[in-house]
Amino acid sequence: MLNRIARPEHERFRPTIAPRFAELPADPEVVVIGAGAAGIAAARLLAARGVRVAVIEARGRVGGRVVTTHLRGHAVDLGAHWLHAGPINPLVQLGTVRGEPLRVAAQNSHLWVGRRPGRPAEASAHGRAFAVTDRFLTTEAARGGLDRPAARALPPGLGPWGERVALVHGLVSGRPLDEVSLQDFPSMEYGDNRFIAGGYGAYLARLAQGLPIALRTEATGIDWSGAGVRVETADGTALSARAVIITLPMMVLQQGPAFTPALPEAVRGAIDGFRPGIYEHAVLHWPSSPFRGADRLASIVGGRHMPPGLLTRLDGTPFHYFELDLPSCASLDARGGGPDGTRRFVRTVLAEHFGERALRDLTVSAVSEWRHDPWSRGSWAVVPPGHAGARQVLLEPIADRLWFAGEALSRLQWGTAGGAYEEGERAARAVAAALGR
Ligand SMILES: Cc1cc2nc3c(=O)[nH]c(=O)nc-3n(C[C@H](O)[C@H](O)[C@H](O)COP(=O)(O)OP(=O)(O)OC[C@H]3O[C@@H](n4cnc5c(N)ncnc54)[C@H](O)[C@@H]3O)c2cc1C
Repeated sequence: MLNRIARPEHERFRPTIAPRFAELPADPEVVVIGAGAAGIAAARLLAARGVRVAVIEARGRVGGRVVTTHLRGHAVDLGAHWLHAGPINPLVQLGTVRGEPLRVAAQNSHLWVGRRPGRPAEASAHGRAFAVTDRFLTTEAARGGLDRPAARALPPGLGPWGERVALVHGLVSGRPLDEVSLQDFPSMEYGDNRFIAGGYGAYLARLAQGLPIALRTEATGIDWSGAGVRVETADGTALSARAVIITLPMMVLQQGPAFTPALPEAVRGAIDGFRPGIYEHAVLHWPSSPFRGADRLASIVGGRHMPPGLLTRLDGTPFHYFELDLPSCASLDARGGGPDGTRRFVRTVLAEHFGERALRDLTVSAVSEWRHDPWSRGSWAVVPPGHAGARQVLLEPIADRLWFAGEALSRLQWGTAGGAYEEGERAARAVAAALGR
């Protein structure tokens, strides 16, 4: 069973909101596996259409890779924090209708070079390098059929900023650019983002209020050999239904649950071809940080260590995210220091750029380890070069009884909670139609 692996640090923090749930129906028509963004979306849509739905969730909370906790009285997200792609993100549209406290994310950012603030000329050269790259990659990819490493399509002539650009794109892609298909670039929407007061995880928890969800219920087997589907759980019970929506992360599906009969070869191949995207937060409490203004990204360059990303003064609080990419996580894991090893690493990097004295009031309050979390095994699923067709394969239902959903299926919003929500709704609409609702 997957839950024998030690609990990662981010799972030890309590969510700010614990919604109340309805009882599972005795005879569900649809079982939804997983209560992250995709599972919550699917359950809400099915319930609204009058379909008897039962959601089972392995963790003791909802939200999956979107969770908000309280740190020193502030609500802080330990997973997703940005509502990306405002115009096409269903969670932005729904939040607007519900009157949720959304705000447009600041566009301003800081630049720090070596041990000093960046000069205006450096800041504009830095900004230009990103703008040129975004335009170039998007145009290249938009030409279509370019399922090749994104690294090979970086524009020439970026000069000293080329390394920084590749580092940041590798961070937000979840893997270095030679391991990411260029095909995905048109969908990378960094503009028009939103934040939400009180945290993204708290928002999703509010959306789960009143749904029929059973927590601490791990699906261990999915038997679709009969007319419907039987979902077996770790406590030995089973739920039978007409159909199932499976919202588990691809990296989890690579390990289990067991399917009877086995999944068709093309589907198994699609699932197994994804690679884990790695992106982690070290949450800093650093009141005296030199970065002013709320919610601003900071680029720190020109030292032995270049942190790939920093989001400063979250919601105007003294909290900041120090972001860790795959190469940093791999080297930390090789050293085996766990979350405290990450804390030491973060201090070393910041000390190089700001000096030890500037860190006197720094605490690393939390370190996420989604890559070691048995229920996620990564931050999102990455399509490596040559595997771009996988999302499309998984959109097709199997035998009109098994549907997949989740961030990995979204063509335009992959890797995001908005994409997961969109896919949960898509699968639920298809299941409802198959049931004649
Ligand atoms: C550190 C970090 C930062 C991120 N930042 C952003 C961001 O700023 N903006 C953004 O949009 N996205 C971001 N993401 C990505 C985003 O969090 C995910 O893409 C999204 O939450 C995925 O939703 P999902 O429903 O597809 O999967 P999940 O949220 O993983 O939901 C799947 C659910 O299935 C459950 N489960 C797993 N196995 C079983 C089982 N056997 N039985 C029952 N239940 C099971 C899991 O516990 C989980 O609750 C970030 C992710 C991380 C880790």
